[in-house]
Amino acid sequence: MKLHSAMNASIKNMAVTALRFFARNRTEFQFVTKLVPALRAGAKRRNKSEKSGVHIPPFLIASVSSQCNLRCAGCYARAGGSCGDEKSDDELTTKRWGELFTQAEELGISFILLAGGEPLMRRDLLSEAAAHSKIIFPVFTNGTLIDDAYFELFDSHRNIVPVVSIEGDDAVTDARRGQGVAIGLRRAISGLHARDIPFGASVTVTGENLEAVTSPRFVAELQESACRIVFFVEYVPVDEISVGLVLSEAQREELARRVSALKAGCKDVAFISFPGDEKELGGCLAAGRGFFHINANGNAEPCPFSPYSDINLKEHGLLEAINSPLFARVRAQDILSAEHSGGCVLFENRDIVSTLAE
Ligand code: SF4
Repeated sequence: MKLHSAMNASIKNMAVTALRFFARNRTEFQFVTKLVPALRAGAKRRNKSEKSGVHIPPFLIASVSSQCNLRCAGCYARAGGSCGDEKSDDELTTKRWGELFTQAEELGISFILLAGGEPLMRRDLLSEAAAHSKIIFPVFTNGTLIDDAYFELFDSHRNIVPVVSIEGDDAVTDARRGQGVAIGLRRAISGLHARDIPFGASVTVTGENLEAVTSPRFVAELQESACRIVFFVEYVPVDEISVGLVLSEAQREELARRVSALKAGCKDVAFISFPGDEKELGGCLAAGRGFFHINANGNAEPCPFSPYSDINLKEHGLLEAINSPLFARVRAQDILSAEHSGGCVLFENRDIVSTLAE
């Protein structure tokens, strides 16, 4: 099955899953019944583009903040310099992001993952995203900045779905993210649960926490807190020291086996493995195949773990970024479907990508 049709099929499954997971009360049901036609309209637009020879990815990853309030060990964004304590003067404005969200809807991009740095440090931008009700915005957040105003925003705008980062039990989470972060996270999770706001969890899987974060006990705890979707993200190293945390080939197979068992056994939580699930779609989905990345300063990049760019969204539109010469060169490489040992094939082949970017 061609990539385009395969992606539309998996989004259709997602819509059915959303109906199952996100239509548990009147508010959610009303939201999902509006969402499904919007997803259908998006697929229709992508189909039309595909027929005219332009492949439009259904997903976009937008790292909207160059700032973060935490200093997690092994943070890819901090190590790569795309995130720090201070806000970059070069950040895309909220107005420009709003224009890009409108372009995304017009092209048929249905999901925009908001990341960073810490996206909740851009409150005005979250409100801007909320206004684009035909697009789903999973917001990957460390959860420590969720306050009453954010509870209110998530409650009244169900197209904004908080996805909180968690590493395992409190001790493991604090060890990586800083003393006291786990308590803040628990407060955020119980607040979302108490208001019946759908949320997800993002778990960075390393060779050290694989057992713990795929254990029935850990998943049961998330389930009890009404978490609806769990993203297992394989760890990508930031330096020679953290290479030891990368999953070995045997551990990657074990992760895949455990995620399939969870998908089969646990019917009221959805599980997504990244990049594990890409295999079913013929390999890495970066560089516009399934998604691409925009960093906080507007550079269009193949993926958050591949910080190379030949187009900036301050001067160019989304369609120009999708058709960027760099993306075309990367897609033309076999590396996207190649077997790879770490969490990211483009990170592993960064020398090739940097040559293509020159
Ligand atoms: S919360 Fe995210 S962006 Fe911030 S330091 Fe931690 S890993 Fe990095």
